[in-house]
Amino acid sequence: MNFSLQTHSIDGFGDSSRLLHAFSLRSFERDGGVPEDLLLGRRTDPRSSEQHRQCLLESLNIPSKEIFFVKQVHGDRVFVLDDPEVSADQTEREEADAMITHLKDKPIAVLTADCVPVILYDPERQVAGVVHAGRKGSQMNLVAKTISILSKVYGSHPGNVRMALGPAIGGCCYEVDEPCIEPFRKNYPEWERFVTGRSPGRYMLDLLKANEADAVRAGVLKEHIHHSGECTSCNNDRWYSYRKEGTTGRTVSLAMLRTAT
Ligand SMILES: [Zn+2]
Repeated sequence: MNFSLQTHSIDGFGDSSRLLHAFSLRSFERDGGVPEDLLLGRRTDPRSSEQHRQCLLESLNIPSKEIFFVKQVHGDRVFVLDDPEVSADQTEREEADAMITHLKDKPIAVLTADCVPVILYDPERQVAGVVHAGRKGSQMNLVAKTISILSKVYGSHPGNVRMALGPAIGGCCYEVDEPCIEPFRKNYPEWERFVTGRSPGRYMLDLLKANEADAVRAGVLKEHIHHSGECTSCNNDRWYSYRKEGTTGRTVSLAMLRTAT
């Protein structure tokens, strides 16, 4: 099959010779050049997902035939992919919203449409992680938790961890109510930096800034934090946005450790 599939990456994040990372755009072109939705979620797009996942892997020159996802449930569990025998079918049954690994040539990924996709990379220990940091995961400090598990399992020093925040709904477009803000007040001493009052009981919430604050508190250095700068709602022509569209596809945010050459 002839196709053209572009992905987005963040300049200056990680070390491209050791870590591959990519964010999938909402469409790709097949044969005649007609743009077609790129549908990668098994639960949301069971019919297209297998073939489209193969296209994504091929476009990135990834030798693996599988992408390793977890079953995202808006919780705060971190799955450690440390067994090379585990299949992608098995990981996709693990209820978790973050995954870390030291295994080379295994693409790990999360699916999002507005929620913040986070990629973590420690060049010292050569380990990587992906996080689905939606509103609920962020409320539960999932990024900080993932960093602490990277430290416990792989001995990562947070000061060495690099972080990339992918396309997500920006503080420009994410209006929420009082009950959404309450857990941030409780779990984030710096919550006022990313919550702005809009009208009585209504707030603009900047989930990207929240996750950045969470990482910094966990010991990640500000200069090691990279943003894609893409708001999924403002740039809805490039990215899927659940808020804007309702039923929609998902962005895949993928990380893969490479074997040193
Ligand atoms: Zn926006």
